[in-house]
Amino acid sequence: MNVVLNPATEEPIAELPHATAEDADRAVAAAKGAFPAWRAVAPEDRARLLRRLAGLVEEHGEELAELESRNVGKPIGDARGEVGMVADVFHFYAGAVDKHHGETIPVAGGVDLTFREPLGVVGLVTPWNFPLNIASWKLGPALACGNTVVLKPAELTPLTSLRLGELALEAGIPEGVVNVISGPGSVVGQRLVEHPDVAKIGFTGSTEVGRRVMEGAAGTIKRVTLELGGTSANVVFADADLERAAASAPGAVFGNAGQDCCARSRILVERRAYDRFLELLEGATRPVKVGDPQSPDTEMGPLISAEHREQVASFVDGDARIRGDAPGGPGFWFPCTVVEATNDDRVAREEVFGPVAAVIPFEDEADAIRIANDTPYGLSGSIWTENGARALRVARAIDSGVLSVNSNASVRVQAPFGGFKQSGFGRELGLHALAGYSEVKNVYISTG
Ligand code: NDP
Repeated sequence: MNVVLNPATEEPIAELPHATAEDADRAVAAAKGAFPAWRAVAPEDRARLLRRLAGLVEEHGEELAELESRNVGKPIGDARGEVGMVADVFHFYAGAVDKHHGETIPVAGGVDLTFREPLGVVGLVTPWNFPLNIASWKLGPALACGNTVVLKPAELTPLTSLRLGELALEAGIPEGVVNVISGPGSVVGQRLVEHPDVAKIGFTGSTEVGRRVMEGAAGTIKRVTLELGGTSANVVFADADLERAAASAPGAVFGNAGQDCCARSRILVERRAYDRFLELLEGATRPVKVGDPQSPDTEMGPLISAEHREQVASFVDGDARIRGDAPGGPGFWFPCTVVEATNDDRVAREEVFGPVAAVIPFEDEADAIRIANDTPYGLSGSIWTENGARALRVARAIDSGVLSVNSNASVRVQAPFGGFKQSGFGRELGLHALAGYSEVKNVYISTG
């Protein structure tokens, strides 16, 4: 049995059987059987069903947020925000169903029409850090385009995804359209990747597993969307509003206890402002409230597991510049930690995926761009400056899929999200995500 723990207490909160490869096959068969009828649902009816699902997520918002908070150890305030986004995602894609249409292209002797056809059965494989949010980012566009799905959440955090599957049925989405199975990635995930009846894998997780997904998908030329890791740079120029940049920096790397692919874990600071910024950062980091995720004023909870805590700890060898407080006793706690580093240190080169920020000085704009890009990843990042032209120049020069200027927020329902380089490819959210769940068909009609 899979014993699901609350990482803040280490107590079991659920016991689930591990799904097997045969269960995966059954889920794929159900999704395949449901596909012809689902793709034929009239656009306005499909939209209505997605809107109903959004409404049910809102109605059950508190229940879902509680469950997510207990399973992931995330502060209840954050969990409520994330569930709110899940509802917004389904509202958005309900509205997108009948706006994702083709073109007419004049050609010699006739006209070309394009159609956006669904792919068929898609496998959605999600991680443990934002289970429900990331599931919705994939489900919304997949269903809007007329695909049926098999969703495999991470075994550490399957509870809200399983509940979402029930809500989809309650919303009236026909049986077989949304199938949720909880089982190990190496068995169930791998089976979905290799299954000949699965047309696409939408994957979020580590770069290492992403690589394996891509290799496995090659056997059947499956489409893949990969949302992988990051070591994003938060670039602070001396001409920035330093108080604002420093006040915002802790949230950008300690949010979700740093278990965020968008974490701005490398804080690059122009040398002229370095000492002042560190002083301000210390003032902003010390008060971060780490503790009981159920308490409404908690800002950071525990890490997901004992194993993960060990891995995060391996990045800090005792000489932290700032170390916050964390509860003792049960729970996988780790304090907010800031280290001074160079970009060659392991803490800057590898994804920590924990509440550890590496502060790195730079000399000038060119140096900042060089360091920001000196990583195999390219997911997210921020630029802090009062010089608008510089902000744009640097934003264009950083090889990253999602950047923000004078802000650390980069994920919005309406706007594309995804990586450059080894952070993956394909885009989630916004209208861009629809391209990843449909195929363009070109039909030529002779008018001769
Ligand atoms: P993993 O890559 O270990 O797992 C992600 C998902 O893949 C899980 O559901 C896992 O199942 C499954 N999986 C594992 N092995 C296979 C396989 N061989 N074939 C198919 N599926 C498999 O990542 P984590 O869950 O540990 O999440 C943390 C990582 O994800 C971090 O490195 C982070 O950067 C990245 N991430 C990236 C995001 C992005 O949007 N770019 C967002 C969130 C996280 P199971 O765990 O049940 O075995």
